[in-house]
Amino acid sequence: MLNIILFGAPGAGKGTQSDLLVAKYKLNHISTGDLLRKEIAEQTELGKRIKGIMDSGSLVSDDIVVEMIDKAIASDTQGILFDGFPRNVAQAEVLDQLMAKHGRSLTCMVSLDVPKDELVRRMLERAKVSGRSDDNEETIKNRLKEYESKTLPVAAYYEKQGKHIKINGFGGIEEISANIIAAIEKL
Ligand code: ADP
Repeated sequence: MLNIILFGAPGAGKGTQSDLLVAKYKLNHISTGDLLRKEIAEQTELGKRIKGIMDSGSLVSDDIVVEMIDKAIASDTQGILFDGFPRNVAQAEVLDQLMAKHGRSLTCMVSLDVPKDELVRRMLERAKVSGRSDDNEETIKNRLKEYESKTLPVAAYYEKQGKHIKINGFGGIEEISANIIAAIEKL
């Protein structure tokens, strides 16, 4: 069973590449961003608490996302594609524990490498159609800052475990997808 983390900066194309991987390997797509946005859209208690944090581009607390992930792993039977999680080293450590608790293990972490000016360009482009309140210039700056300080160290965490696969995320969607699949097939 494949359990893959798709990793990359905001705007790196995780959502797009996730859809293609999920279709190819019949994985369960677990995007913490989507799960959190659903809470906000449904105006749940949790949604009300996290809206301001997400709108500012900061990370919501680990407890909240960890609980969501625990439930998602418990109910999965087909293999998981994690998208947007883990977002810091503490979450990566918890993920290892949760996978072990459920008798599972991570196959690999695929990171999409995209230059920063391209990331900003893509997010501003997406802002025109996404309706996402965090796709604006001020928030994008904070999201990239959060990524560099908190999320980027997660790559080194999996590098140490020999599970980090780096893919060039700058190019055509199909080409990038083919490169990801080729790397997974080689494992
Ligand atoms: P992007 O990859 O473009 O940053 P996401 O949809 O993955 O977009 O995340 C949007 C926002 O949701 C983040 O800025 C953060 O506030 C929150 N979020 C998503 N995943 C996590 C996580 N694992 N831990 C903490 N906050 C998260």
